[in-house]
Amino acid sequence: MLSRDDIGRHLTSENVFEGDSLPGFSDTIEHPDGLVLVDTGMIDTTPALDEDAEEWGKWHPHPLPDELVDRVVVVVNTHLHPDHCGGNRLFPGIPIHVQRRELADARTGDDYTVREWVDFPGATYVEHDGEAEILPGIRLLPTPGHTAGHQVVVVETDEGPIVLGGDVGHSFEELERGDTPGRQVVLELAAPTHLTHVAEVRVPHPRP
Ligand SMILES: [Zn+2]
Repeated sequence: MLSRDDIGRHLTSENVFEGDSLPGFSDTIEHPDGLVLVDTGMIDTTPALDEDAEEWGKWHPHPLPDELVDRVVVVVNTHLHPDHCGGNRLFPGIPIHVQRRELADARTGDDYTVREWVDFPGATYVEHDGEAEILPGIRLLPTPGHTAGHQVVVVETDEGPIVLGGDVGHSFEELERGDTPGRQVVLELAAPTHLTHVAEVRVPHPRP
């Protein structure tokens, strides 16, 4: 059985906007079958992203260390915004689990993501329509809201479930509004929750 200590957090991007810096974290799970990586952060930027810095903030990539990259056997994308899939290119031939809807939207939507970061040589997407258990103790749950194809990862540990929540909320305050189906799903789990852009891990509580 997995334990809380099997889950790691790694700073993989920062966004600096009007003097404020917003961290972005990727999560790893040390599973008996190998290392699972949830969201791949950023390893570089593009001229287009840099040009948009005034509107969307300046991105600072923080690539994962090679030691981790080399051990990854499964990747999950909560969704395909650039700061969540920017390192996907490091994993040709490695299964990347995503909701079918998310991949379709990333391939067709204007300004949705950096499309070359999604579709790169060797990209091996495993598409899901809804809930899925990808390894014993690791489940995907669709949580639409931030994007229509957004999903979270639920890890069963000896202390109960832990939610790797991606951008289901950019903050706990946002999550606790419960104003999207995805936020409702995560609030009902009432489990320790990781949010990509929040360093703190805690149980979210619905607001009255
Ligand atoms: Zn996002």
